[in-house]
Amino acid sequence: LQTLEGACSSAQPSGSSKPRKPSFNFSWSEEVQAKLCSVFQLSKFRPLQQAAINLSMSGKDLFLVMPTGRGKSLCYQLPALCSKGFTLVIAPLVSLMEDQLMYLKSVNVPAVTLNASSTKEDSKQVLAGMIDKNSPFKLLYVTPEKIAKSKLLMSKLEKAYNMGLLARIAVDEVHCCSQWGHDFRPDYKLLGILKRQFPKVPLVGLTATATSNVLKDCQKILCVQEPITLTAPFNRPNLYYEVRFKDNEDCVDQISQLIRERYKNQSGIVYVFSQKDAEAVATDLQKRNILAQPYHANMEPSDKSLVHQRWSSKKIQVVVATVAFGMGIDKADVRFVIHHTISKSIENYYQESGRAGRDDGSADCIVFFGFADIFRVSTMVVMENTGQQKLQNMVAYCQNVDRCRRAMMAIHFDEVWNDDECNQMCDVCRHDYITMDITKHARDVVTIVEMASSMDEKLTPLKVCDAWLGKGPAKHRKTIKVTSLSRLEVESIIIHLLLHGYFSEDFSFTPYTTHFYLKLGRKAALLKKDNHSITMKMRRRVMSHATVKIRECKTKLDFLSV
Ligand code: ADP
Ligand code: MG
Ligand code: ZN
Repeated sequence: LQTLEGACSSAQPSGSSKPRKPSFNFSWSEEVQAKLCSVFQLSKFRPLQQAAINLSMSGKDLFLVMPTGRGKSLCYQLPALCSKGFTLVIAPLVSLMEDQLMYLKSVNVPAVTLNASSTKEDSKQVLAGMIDKNSPFKLLYVTPEKIAKSKLLMSKLEKAYNMGLLARIAVDEVHCCSQWGHDFRPDYKLLGILKRQFPKVPLVGLTATATSNVLKDCQKILCVQEPITLTAPFNRPNLYYEVRFKDNEDCVDQISQLIRERYKNQSGIVYVFSQKDAEAVATDLQKRNILAQPYHANMEPSDKSLVHQRWSSKKIQVVVATVAFGMGIDKADVRFVIHHTISKSIENYYQESGRAGRDDGSADCIVFFGFADIFRVSTMVVMENTGQQKLQNMVAYCQNVDRCRRAMMAIHFDEVWNDDECNQMCDVCRHDYITMDITKHARDVVTIVEMASSMDEKLTPLKVCDAWLGKGPAKHRKTIKVTSLSRLEVESIIIHLLLHGYFSEDFSFTPYTTHFYLKLGRKAALLKKDNHSITMKMRRRVMSHATVKIRECKTKLDFLSV
């Protein structure tokens, strides 16, 4: 008897290059195999594709989690071709749909779209085609807004369903359903109507990044009873992960040096925080003779695609981009992704850095981790429910020197992970660190904030640094000794205290901007006890040996407890 477990295990990557016959036979297996070659012109499946297709063909609901660029689309396009009727595909961006339609046209697969820019005439034809027994198209791409807003579309779907013509529902970028995901889109929340109205139609949700919590949330929102989840390994063994402490003075110099030397003649992306930064950093790089151009949401669509095109064809080396440069990038030979500013979450970082090395060649992912940036990003995400928590996780990833970077990501994505698998492909695995006792430092800096608050004054993180370093108004540092630590060390300790609850964030809104202040955290009072101590690991070159007493740490640090 054929079991679906059989279907799953047969989808493991085959090591041999000779095309192999399917090791099992479903009624659709032959057709699927034939169309893989004849229509899609592919010689074999990639990991998980066959399992996903078999599960979906057999009518199961499915969540497919697979890194970007590994071929999720095939997992509903091929079943669409081998089924009666048409497959409804929900995708978040019109530009994504258009890319897909162009590709499908090039391989002669009939596919259409309904979106805000469809003409009346087109819409009429599409709506009629949905209930045509001869199915003039095999795939229908729509935006979630269409489902939410068009009663006409819903009524046609219902008719098609009753005629047995609605073969399958594919929800692309399915994490957009969940507020816990990195890219929530409100209209996705309403897609539960599909499974409620059309319970017999198998649904497949596709995403590149989703934690198990996000998936559970999606399952609930989409009203899917018992989906099977297939997860491709998240690890990208060819990517080298590195975090550098950012010194605003010479960050761009460091980046341009990397680009000119290490990445000479190679393509890459520099991600920045804002449109203004995109323009400024691009200009700075151009001044240093680097072929760089900015990319951000506020540019004309034609300018955006021009930059994308010039970069794809290697006419420019670097795109200096905000996160607007994302979905739809399919350049395989990206050799570096440098973050000039930290991402707002680990999901975002994984996604953005993951645009490097899609060709499986080695590539670098470097974050410049800046003290002031934490608070810029923090005020940007202040309205998001889980924004601060997600940012804290990202900051902890950067601040961490205790665990392999891959391990940090694995923990975040609920993956089982063995540290040896990194193969020294991250800075933590490559470097040495020291453990130091920072209790005395912590007492000093906490006193600064405590004293300010007793004078009814709020201090920004920058003011706290200054006071501790002996700058700014004297009243802020009356009872403490000015520290002999460097600015980077001071910043690093403040971040550590923030991550571990000795400080916490205090936002204040003005009509024009949001301010971030430091206040005492829930653990600050512990520092009053004589026997309370705090240790912290640091990279050797950050902490100058002369200024601190180094002590070997005997107890395990709780860096991951944030
Ligand atoms: P995703 O949606 O997972 O980001 P896509 O479905 O857009 O990825 O596919 C990315 C690329 O991978 C496409 O160019 C596609 O043709 C290619 N691809 C998909 N499946 C295979 C396969 N089995 N063998 C070779 N290339 C494939
Ligand atoms: Mg995709
Ligand atoms: Zn590592």
